[in-house]
Amino acid sequence: MLYLNGVTKSFDGFKAINNLSLVIQKGEMRAIIGPNGAGKTTMMDIITGKTRPDKGEVFFAGDVDLTHHDEAAIASMGIGRKFQKPTVFESHTVEDNIRLSLAGPRSVLGALVHRKDRAERDRIETILETTRLTARRKTYAANLSHGQKQWLEIGMLLAQDPELLLVDEPVAGMTDAETEETARLLREIAQHHSVVVVEHDMHFVRALGVKVTCLHEGSVLSEGTLDKVSNDPKVIEVYLGR
Ligand code: ADP
Repeated sequence: MLYLNGVTKSFDGFKAINNLSLVIQKGEMRAIIGPNGAGKTTMMDIITGKTRPDKGEVFFAGDVDLTHHDEAAIASMGIGRKFQKPTVFESHTVEDNIRLSLAGPRSVLGALVHRKDRAERDRIETILETTRLTARRKTYAANLSHGQKQWLEIGMLLAQDPELLLVDEPVAGMTDAETEETARLLREIAQHHSVVVVEHDMHFVRALGVKVTCLHEGSVLSEGTLDKVSNDPKVIEVYLGR
């Protein structure tokens, strides 16, 4: 699904990403961990075309070379990103937020007027269920809890039907119960999509139960199960040495 091959990116001579190679299989969910400054955000920026690498290549869905495409083109190829801070339409209901995000060119007015389309309704129902928001469908997004806003934004991403979802620290600021529910929600989503999750919360990463990649100084420091990675002396040194 995604292949980074020897990617390097410097800012003012400092290598934020240093000869990074990474493979995410189709249908895989991967957790990316690493201390502050490890290069996690820059890696996501490179995948989505927000930042261009100095060296190396990024391939999507086999042989689609993303390296020279811009952000809009990459998004339209099926890569969706959720940033840490939710950006929902506060003055619209949960349901309308999802409707407004459905794939395909449409105007805001058109999306709200053509609310009777059957396939579209089914799609919205499925997304509401997946994101645990069915009972909140008529709630204005402004009135959701922080956790529910995060789920809504994940739903808005799903509405665009991406093959690969990039999710940045989804449980920051969530309660323990919301964190657990988010792990279940992402595991469900990963049955139909490939997912890359950047996360600091190790309880959450454990609940995801997926392969982990630990970045440090822009490269892969350790990779494998969470147990293997968290017991890796190189990882322990990097976390405890700070
Ligand atoms: P992480 O997300 O793992 O905390 P980042 O990708 O944000 O790490 O940052 C990696 C390194 O690159 C950091 O040292 C950061 O200061 C630097 N960096 C990131 N973006 C820029 C930028 N636009 N200009 C200068 N330095 C940057």
